[in-house]
Amino acid sequence: MTISFDFDETFTAAPELFASVMDVFRAAGWMVIVCTRRGDQRRPTAESVIDDRFAGSVPVVRARGIPKWQAAREAGFEVDVWVDDDPGSVLGMPNLIPRRS
Ligand SMILES: [Mg+2]
Repeated sequence: MTISFDFDETFTAAPELFASVMDVFRAAGWMVIVCTRRGDQRRPTAESVIDDRFAGSVPVVRARGIPKWQAAREAGFEVDVWVDDDPGSVLGMPNLIPRRS
């Protein structure tokens, strides 16, 4: 099974909590990836944060301008479970669910 975690406002909302959860899935044999719409201009990059925590063992997939499901598939991952604060971004419809102001 493969599970994808979003980066901004998901992993970054509680980095150590999510890192611990990701460790649990990895220990159970799941493939864990991070799929993000964050571009490479924004610092720190998702790759640097995730690589620091997981020593390069958690792949980071960038989905710039395309749906996350497509970016993941193009990177060779068929994701079974998505964990994302913006579920519409998985389908290529970011901000589909209006945020409270
Ligand atoms: Mg997010």
